[in-house]
Amino acid sequence: MKPIVAANWKMNLTLLESHALLEEILNQSKSTDAKVIFFPSFISLPSICDKLRDAQYAVGGQNISDKESGAYTGEISASMLQSLNAHYVIIGHSERRQFYHENDSQINDKILHALNAKLKPIVCIGETLQERQDDETALVLKRQLTAAFENIEQNEHHNIIVAYEPVWAIGTGQTAEENQILEAHKLIKKTLKSIFDNNIPTLYGGSVTADNALSLINIDHVDGFLIGGASLNSESFCQIIKNIT
Ligand code: PEP
Repeated sequence: MKPIVAANWKMNLTLLESHALLEEILNQSKSTDAKVIFFPSFISLPSICDKLRDAQYAVGGQNISDKESGAYTGEISASMLQSLNAHYVIIGHSERRQFYHENDSQINDKILHALNAKLKPIVCIGETLQERQDDETALVLKRQLTAAFENIEQNEHHNIIVAYEPVWAIGTGQTAEENQILEAHKLIKKTLKSIFDNNIPTLYGGSVTADNALSLINIDHVDGFLIGGASLNSESFCQIIKNIT
């Protein structure tokens, strides 16, 4: 399987800045063996989808509504995102769980809408520092997975990606230790196998950099990365891609 490298630009970059960064990345990394997916803001998404229409790179949204359509001011639906020729969507990022109080049931609804609209969800799960210190990591990961995939058809397995993102490692510069990542990914793969009876690609996210990417990709069951900070700089992002392919 090609390693998956997902760039989550979060609420950064104006339209022109996002075009400039994309241009720099394309110039530095003309062809790659990685599956690279960009997640720009909704403002930049339409033009970036157009620019990458015939390229080997894919594009996705950072979020969708848990509702299908209707009077939900400010929301973007799965079918709106799909109409742009975007193929992926991040669902349940810890920043959305933490700051916008998204719960497991809304995340399950979002996954259902995404799959109905033929979008591939990257479903984020991960424990907080408190949960890790209380020895609840396994419990939390299993709960998040079971709730996220309730009533999802088994045959959707090839459309789903999961990202393990320990909340305390996101944007902190504190990458999880290799044995912590290995243990979490083993548990995630086993739980997903029991739900889908198949191997689901599982990414690691949390302070991935050009310096640690190679050792992280070599951990068993790590199929790629979801990258925040380091994806905002063309050199560090392209170096990560080079280091793991
Ligand atoms: C993320 O936001 O999903 C993330 C992993 O961020 P960072 O790489 O900055 O830790």
